[in-house]
Amino acid sequence: MCIFLTVIVSCFMTISLIFILNATLISTIMCLADRINHHISLLHKRSFCLHCGHMLLWYDTIPIISVIMLKGKCRYCQQYFGCHIAIFECLGTIIGTLLFSNPPLWITGLFLLFFSLEDWHDKSIHAYLLIPWLVYLIIHVHDKQHLLMTFSILSISLWLVFIRRAMGSGDIPVLLNLALINDLNGFALTLFVTSILALIYLTIKRTHELPFVPFLFIGWLIVILSQKAIILISG
Ligand SMILES: [Zn+2]
Repeated sequence: MCIFLTVIVSCFMTISLIFILNATLISTIMCLADRINHHISLLHKRSFCLHCGHMLLWYDTIPIISVIMLKGKCRYCQQYFGCHIAIFECLGTIIGTLLFSNPPLWITGLFLLFFSLEDWHDKSIHAYLLIPWLVYLIIHVHDKQHLLMTFSILSISLWLVFIRRAMGSGDIPVLLNLALINDLNGFALTLFVTSILALIYLTIKRTHELPFVPFLFIGWLIVILSQKAIILISG
């Protein structure tokens, strides 16, 4: 009984620590993307309100909890910045905790969250930040199937970017990353779900352009979380 209780407490502590780590990382990534999108220096140490410039106290920067306690408003100027931040932080933390046991998926997820926020705001991303991660993946995931798929994706992407001008060059490293961490079925499914989501967005918004990375990110999340759920259900 005592051993059983120790195991339960140990599991609870581990999951709690992973949850807190993910909450902190997701909140930091959202803050970094917000600063870059608003052209604010990353060297600015303390967090502050983007509306009134007032420095935030430590208890105003606790992931998820602070936004809920403040009801999505600045404590000082009462400017509403939105409760959606708490929802994103909460969802991101849960998904991050679920992916934590698979480092390639987890790290890719963190990168894609950052790029999605950038792409959604500016329709451009700092894609070169992915290059060291891609080099690492190519060195460690060097089976023929993945390398052949990656090379094919690179060739098609270069054609779409430079000949057809149907895609931004920043999308290429993101697609290569997904090709390297998925098998062929997973990658094809991701593209299929992404296309459906993008088509729905284009139809509703009645536009011909969209930030591709957020749709790719959501499409990929739907596929890997569905795969995990199927494995769990089928035992
Ligand atoms: Zn304020």
